[in-house]
Amino acid sequence: MSSTKTIGIIGGGQLGQMMAISAIYMGHKVITLDPASDCPSSRVSEVIAASYDDVDALRQLADCCDVLTYEFENVDADGLDAVIKDGQLPQGTELLRISQNRIFEKDFLSNKAQVTVAPYKIVTSSLDLEDIDLSKNYVLKTATGGYDGHGQKVITSAEDLEEANALANSAECVLEEFVNFDLEISVIVSGNGKDVTVFPVQENIHRNNILSKTIVPARISDRLADRAKAIAVKIAEQLNLSGTLCVEMFATADDIIVNEIAPRPHNSGHYSIEACDFSQFDTHILGVLGAPLPAINLHEPAVMLNVLGQHVEAAERYVTENPSAHLHMYGKLEAKHNRKMGHVTLFSNEPDNVVEFGKGIDF
Ligand code: AMP
Repeated sequence: MSSTKTIGIIGGGQLGQMMAISAIYMGHKVITLDPASDCPSSRVSEVIAASYDDVDALRQLADCCDVLTYEFENVDADGLDAVIKDGQLPQGTELLRISQNRIFEKDFLSNKAQVTVAPYKIVTSSLDLEDIDLSKNYVLKTATGGYDGHGQKVITSAEDLEEANALANSAECVLEEFVNFDLEISVIVSGNGKDVTVFPVQENIHRNNILSKTIVPARISDRLADRAKAIAVKIAEQLNLSGTLCVEMFATADDIIVNEIAPRPHNSGHYSIEACDFSQFDTHILGVLGAPLPAINLHEPAVMLNVLGQHVEAAERYVTENPSAHLHMYGKLEAKHNRKMGHVTLFSNEPDNVVEFGKGIDF
């Protein structure tokens, strides 16, 4: 049997593009499904231009690929179930369903994986908010469809309830206690259906709810870092994980609380392309192919800065002045405000001195 596979990727944004690059240098062929024929992946793969819920297009992709994967979690799981052959989607559709819905996700994390999450309750209408104890703070999140802080309302006083009630009456929600965290962290873990490999702990700084900067290793104690990695491994093992998963967590003074999972390579793991001996995209491809997984080593402490639409010129200037920084541009044609256009990774022992693009201008 040939070791060269045809891999079908659902979604041709930057994550699909970087997965494809890893797959290609390992000798595989990639076909991408994306609504836009000029998506970032079009530079490195064939593209089937169709919407993600187009079952005929999903079938066409499945028919010409050995293995399928996805770059984002909002893929039509039922549509995929209808077209995939046995074992063709090693990540499975169950993982998609869990990560598409915060209610399923919380249930999985707290009851099946048995990791610590913020105390929560399911909210089906504003009636469920009537008796909340306002001596505590909360975050109300829609169960589906939220991203980058959309579909969320922080509740710190009775004044916030009007908006929270409206959100609760518009969609099923989860009400979480607000965590007074010291740092936001994430851990990338990859599996091949049997074994897992885990990356160093990443410290994430968000601006306007969008990841702005990742610092690796995270500035937490070794004890907490070990605990964070153990939590990610526990979740991966509970899932019999294939491919790459990101576990987003909060670090407090003495505890790690899991916020959410993303069943794919993640923006906070991009540093691994240069800073580790294998990237999160390499291990994703190895994992979905069921290949043995390497242990991961971090070469040197690293910082990643996101390049949003309004930062493109600043980033280009930065790498002219700092040629040892790695600029990645995803090939998106239009540089819209807050759109992720690329990222920069550099090695640094002084992460506070690595200034985010746009600091003092757009945040
Ligand atoms: P999420 O969509 O769940 O990733 O939330 C977006 C951001 O909101 C997170 O990165 C945190 O900064 C913040 N956040 C979410 N949930 C909580 C929580 N329970 N307590 C404190 N901050 C939170």
